[in-house]
Amino acid sequence: MPTTAVRKAKEAPRKSAPKPAPSIDNHPIYSELGFPTDPNNLYRQTVGYMLTAAELMDLSDEIKLILAQPKNEIMVHFPVKMDNGQFRIFKGYRVQHNNALGPYKGGLRFHPDVHLDDVKSLAFLMTMKCSLVGVPFGGGKGGIKVNPREHSSAEMQRIVRRFTSAIAHNIGPDYDIPAPDVGSTSQHMAWIADTYTFLSEIGGHNPEAVITGKPVEYGGSLGREKATGQGVVDTLVEMLPELNLKINQCKVSVLGFGNVGSWSAKIIQDLGAKVIAVADHTGFIRNDRGIDAHDLATYVARSGGVANYPKATKVSKEEFYKTKVDIFIPAALEQMIQEPEAKMLNCTVVAEGANAPTTPPGERMLQSKGIEILPAILCNAGGVTVSYFEWVQNKTCHSWDLTKVDAELNKHMVQAAGRVREARKHYKCDMRTAAYVASLQRLTKAYELRGIFP
Ligand code: GLU
Repeated sequence: MPTTAVRKAKEAPRKSAPKPAPSIDNHPIYSELGFPTDPNNLYRQTVGYMLTAAELMDLSDEIKLILAQPKNEIMVHFPVKMDNGQFRIFKGYRVQHNNALGPYKGGLRFHPDVHLDDVKSLAFLMTMKCSLVGVPFGGGKGGIKVNPREHSSAEMQRIVRRFTSAIAHNIGPDYDIPAPDVGSTSQHMAWIADTYTFLSEIGGHNPEAVITGKPVEYGGSLGREKATGQGVVDTLVEMLPELNLKINQCKVSVLGFGNVGSWSAKIIQDLGAKVIAVADHTGFIRNDRGIDAHDLATYVARSGGVANYPKATKVSKEEFYKTKVDIFIPAALEQMIQEPEAKMLNCTVVAEGANAPTTPPGERMLQSKGIEILPAILCNAGGVTVSYFEWVQNKTCHSWDLTKVDAELNKHMVQAAGRVREARKHYKCDMRTAAYVASLQRLTKAYELRGIFP
């Protein structure tokens, strides 16, 4: 019988009076693993949410320790020739957090502010998300410290291909499957798939399954581009009745108008809701009569941002956040809803389209105002779910029609929402903790069944 730490922990007789749970703000795991002491550190915050749920479930220390740190952290530096003939060195990352449930899975972020701790947090969130939504993947994340807006298409192609070759030995269709994230597009995924296929020409079937979010014409899936936004709206449709809200009567504001924000806005508008305020890196706009999300998306594709959209009024940051709406969708970067933003928000529910958009102080402020939060690991799991469908289609040489993709996505989202609801009822906790509980239930079961090698 394998002598695993997890089994030992399970077999140990429980003391009759459980010891009080350690404070999450100062959990012993942080010092044991040498976490940064700054409470604003994103990795500390995201792991803190997991620890809150783990304490509630009375999980073994072994599981908490395993999940509190990634398995592998890969950092690469690689030279690329610029259009002017000079070379520049770029920094790339791939963090593989956990593969207990299947191959590592998660996006690649192309952004000038990408740091190791962000990538670790995002990889950790992928593990939690995949487990919650019931796709057979673990969690990973990567990125390149680069601003795609500052490079020509030819330069980006060389950067992406050279990065792919630098990490090629660490990814694979059955080992680690990247995807798009902030700043990366289906074109970038096509270059990665092509480079990987070229490098692995001699061995392996379906090498293009090494990456998802590819263009539909080259191994991609119908419905993948809109999938994260579709999942946000599927979650809302499932959860709104509990909040006594009808989607076709809802007013909505959206922070971030990239892939997730624009698709969430378009899809929710098509169900009868009215988008009245939008913000992105260029500015804040409002129109109480409604902003046509389809028209705005066309405008942004041309202009690069929402700021000067002629059919809405430019407003201040304060006016944007204070706009009275039913649903607020943060769909930009992490940690944008801090205490001051949460204080200004005037909504019934926050549907987290972005990863980790709300900080713990922001969350406490929202809770004190009675605002419900649909947590990111549930709400934005649509992207990776359709990535899973893309991978299945690549592996089986089939292509699914959009009706099938949408129906299967909805099934996963509804089931995940149901498991979160059950956990909330059982543990009498907030929705985020419940989502972590539901995710940890599946992960800990896998560890119990698999044991820990050797
Ligand atoms: N980057 C997306 C996320 O954060 C999608 C990941 C994927 O499809 O693997 O969920």
